[in-house]
Amino acid sequence: MNVTFPASLDLIVIGGGPAGYSAAIRAAQFGNSVLLVEKERLGGACLNSGCIPTKFLWETLNLEKKIKRAADHGFAHVPARPEFSLVQQKKNKAIDIIGHGLQNLLASYPITIIEGTAHFTGHRQVAITTRDGAITEAQASKIIIATGSRPRDIPELGIDPIRIINSDDALRLGGVPKTMAIIGAGAIGVEFAFIFAGFGCDVTLIEKESHILPAEDGELSSEVKKLLQRQGVKVIESAGTLEPLIRDAEQVLVATGRQPNIETLNLPAAKINFNENGITVNAYLETSQNGVYACGDVTGKNYLAYIAQAEGIAAAENIHGGKNTIDYSTTPRVIFSQPPIASAGKRPKDCDPAEVITGRFPFTANSRAFIEGERTGWVKVLVEKKTGLIAGCQVIGAEAEALISIISMALKRKTTVNDLKREMFFHPSMAESIFGACEDAFNKCIDLPNKI
Ligand SMILES: Cc1cc2nc3c(=O)[nH]c(=O)nc-3n(C[C@H](O)[C@H](O)[C@H](O)COP(=O)(O)OP(=O)(O)OC[C@H]3O[C@@H](n4cnc5c(N)ncnc54)[C@H](O)[C@@H]3O)c2cc1C
Repeated sequence: MNVTFPASLDLIVIGGGPAGYSAAIRAAQFGNSVLLVEKERLGGACLNSGCIPTKFLWETLNLEKKIKRAADHGFAHVPARPEFSLVQQKKNKAIDIIGHGLQNLLASYPITIIEGTAHFTGHRQVAITTRDGAITEAQASKIIIATGSRPRDIPELGIDPIRIINSDDALRLGGVPKTMAIIGAGAIGVEFAFIFAGFGCDVTLIEKESHILPAEDGELSSEVKKLLQRQGVKVIESAGTLEPLIRDAEQVLVATGRQPNIETLNLPAAKINFNENGITVNAYLETSQNGVYACGDVTGKNYLAYIAQAEGIAAAENIHGGKNTIDYSTTPRVIFSQPPIASAGKRPKDCDPAEVITGRFPFTANSRAFIEGERTGWVKVLVEKKTGLIAGCQVIGAEAEALISIISMALKRKTTVNDLKREMFFHPSMAESIFGACEDAFNKCIDLPNKI
């Protein structure tokens, strides 16, 4: 591979996922000379094996759900079910199209892209092994590490690449297995349970904690459990020894989390501190080595694409003299169950019940939800009694991901429930449910029966 770049670069970015490409673009926007090194495909896990492919499959099933209701809107004929192998082809095409878009976007900036694997050979110096085996040396005044993460294995299960697979492999399956055991009921395990059950697989979801989605609000995780069971998924909580639980499954999907890609970076050569959770950074995303930053999944903090992107941008701005930090306490969290759930800020179990009031609005009272046939769901807001500040919010139902972004902004701006309910929410929209929940916190919701 023959790529030329300036001998003295302003910035090397290692990894072309959401953290890395965002950092590279922001640095180029500041006029820096940037080298971006990517060992596989631009877009990283998000585009190629994470957010985009899973949400494509989710959307296929969502579309099917809507099509099943087509008769309610006057359709005389309802099309057949989607074919999994065809859906996979369409999903791969969507990834290719978005990937080309990303390549074009990067090409519009003065960023040199090199396909290869980078490792440190000194403080601000890396060696890049390109696909043809050639090694190129590069140095820069600043370096950003954005090498992301990969699925975490369970070594005790042994290696059986055909039967025991991870989320990357699951997205490459050509057909739907008859039975699948999914180990781990966090966000990824739950999303795959809905996807494979939706395509007709007999799914068992196994969680060692006492309930699925252990990091979530208990009410949300109970609702998701009911939805899974309604889809025919067998949910096993407080699971003990795995072997008997997975023995009969044709396919076993291990979804027990992610681990940072740090092993091959030769971090000691640059005196960069790390531990098994990832690269250690300060509030400005700088590592223990002056001028070397790390962002996204490789820091082992969040494993979410929009946080990776926000960190990539912040790191690039900090390199340019900024002092950006990220407030993680207000970020939205979404899980694409059918329908999705979302939350931001505090959960009820984080609050003293004597100090918060709860407002709730069901989608059954929202006219847009009725039109869309999306009547399963609600918005719950937690309000601090003393200050009236929004403390947290949980949502289940269609468009939960859009609704929670509004709440996330309200949390970040320290909005009171009174201010939020004075905002205008378009009618008819699902977002009106936020207004309804805020009003309900005072038992004075116009669209709900009298509670006083
Ligand atoms: C199944 C699944 C579903 C998900 N769904 C969502 C979702 O809906 N929403 C959401 O926000 N997040 C989701 N995520 C998480 C999201 O994909 C990640 O948080 C995000 O991709 C992290 O971005 P990153 O840039 O830090 O790392 P990555 O996207 O992992 O990118 C890192 C890049 O660095 C490259 N690289 C690694 N080592 C080297 C090296 N030595 N030299 C050169 N290049 C290297 C890799 O090839 C990779 O392309 C999902 C993840 C999975 C697995």
